Amino acid sequence: MATTQTDTSVDTNTPVDIAANLAQVRQRMVAAARRAGRDPAEVTLVAVSKTHPLEAIRAAWAAGQRDFGENRLEELWEKVEAARDAGLSDIRWHLIGTIQSRKTRQAVGPFVLIHSVDRVKIARRLSRDALEAGQVLDVLLEVNVSGEETKRGFAPDELLAEAPGMLQLPGIRIRGLMTMAPLVDDPEEARPVFRGLRELRDQLRARCPEGDWYHLSMGMTNDFEVAIEEGATLVRVGSAIFGARQA
Ligand SMILES: *Cc1c(COP(=O)(O)O)cnc(C)c1O
Repeated sequence: MATTQTDTSVDTNTPVDIAANLAQVRQRMVAAARRAGRDPAEVTLVAVSKTHPLEAIRAAWAAGQRDFGENRLEELWEKVEAARDAGLSDIRWHLIGTIQSRKTRQAVGPFVLIHSVDRVKIARRLSRDALEAGQVLDVLLEVNVSGEETKRGFAPDELLAEAPGMLQLPGIRIRGLMTMAPLVDDPEEARPVFRGLRELRDQLRARCPEGDWYHLSMGMTNDFEVAIEEGATLVRVGSAIFGARQA
């Protein structure tokens, strides 16, 4: 290893041991769940493979990983097809990135879960397009818990108001919530955001018991352990598995 702790530059030359990284992430997930008195089996690792080639996905797959996440629709479709052609047939694909309203049709596909429904308009169009295709989509609603202007997602109050209407949309099945925490050096600073998402979920459960509010998709490379301690059922981890991304 040529890198040192203080070197934060992107090192694309050091080979990345994906199997070892995965094992380490899984171990840390188990430890975080136990610290919180949770069953580690309640938390699913979504390996975020965006920007990385099929070979990286294959290496993770060979190490037993089956849930993969991509944030761009075009790249997701390319990888679904490439993985299928390569015989990696049992992958569960998650769409985790923003969907533009004119592209909702492309979000109807062989995906296990869409994490990033961030507006009522997107929910309505997805429902319409899914029905046209004879599908019902499992989705999460993305929440801007921290209220940062640059972040996408429903404001908590807005979501409480809009949830009953969205639960009526026949082409989507709402399975829970997703959030992105602010980028901070100390993952402890993200804890209030994760806790906030869990509390919002509990409020929604009380107000709209007809909905399935099971999932909390929260936590990435820098903060997945804190997210698990606060109740995450899905963590979306990229760099800790596949190494740094270029660009
Ligand atoms: C890229 C991405 C991740 C993973 O980020 P890492 O910091 O590399 O773990 C998680 N969620 C979303 C929505 C992303 O776009």
